[in-house]
Amino acid sequence: MTVITDMKNEYSKIEDREPLLVISGLHKRYSEGKSNEVHAIRGLDLRVQKGDMMAIMGPSGCGKTTLLNMIGHLDRRSEGKIIIDKIDTGKLSDGQMTAFRRDKIGFIFQLFNLFPFLSAVENVETPLLLQGVKAGVAREQAKMLLRELGMGDRLYHLPSELSGGQQQRVAVARALVTEPSIILGDEPTGDLDSTTSTDVMNLFRRINKLTRQTLVLVTHNRWIAEQCDYIVHMTDGKISHVEQGPFKTEEESK
Ligand code: ADP
Ligand code: MG
Repeated sequence: MTVITDMKNEYSKIEDREPLLVISGLHKRYSEGKSNEVHAIRGLDLRVQKGDMMAIMGPSGCGKTTLLNMIGHLDRRSEGKIIIDKIDTGKLSDGQMTAFRRDKIGFIFQLFNLFPFLSAVENVETPLLLQGVKAGVAREQAKMLLRELGMGDRLYHLPSELSGGQQQRVAVARALVTEPSIILGDEPTGDLDSTTSTDVMNLFRRINKLTRQTLVLVTHNRWIAEQCDYIVHMTDGKISHVEQGPFKTEEESK
């Protein structure tokens, strides 16, 4: 049974192995032209196929967060080209960029960044309301997703009334609810204990298999990285090498 499912997954992967993200010649300089200029990304090329689950690792300060912010278009690049879902983002107007970010990108932060005065379901429905989805429909979709993530009995709790793992589930639901093309996580499990991290990673894997959404995760944790299809290693604002999975999981190596 699982073999057949796996084969189907493999087959569908081969069928539409199209690049979801293409980065070429990317540079980012902070305080450009000033004496304190920092050259954080130094000519980086990267290709991520649709449905890939990719980890980024590397020493502190090597540019992981900067790269993620460039992919998420939270910050401007200095040079280079980024194509996401066939859209050359350098050609978008400000208005188009706002819509692009809202519709194509899902961001999950380490510190969750939930709205503290909104309940779980209100946090999750907000991106849909911003897209102009009708309130009743948005509420139903938010509820459905939270139930799917095992949060059905916490719909109306405030973030402060939830555990770290539960808050992260809400943050994951909020990033997924608009069905973005690419989901970006900057150490999304960094503040969680190991059991909860495992839960969140299992969740990511399930979502990735189910929806074939592309996932890019920055992590310091080798075990987390090994849950991905491959690991991109960065040093000094560049990719040093790529480790191709599948990696041995803890279960298999026992
Ligand atoms: P990482 O996430 O891998 O730890 P970052 O992307 O945060 O690395 O940082 C890469 C480099 O850019 C570091 O030298 C950092 O000090 C610098 N940097 C990051 N953000 C800024 C900023 N807003 N202004 C100036 N320098 C920055
Ligand atoms: Mg960082």
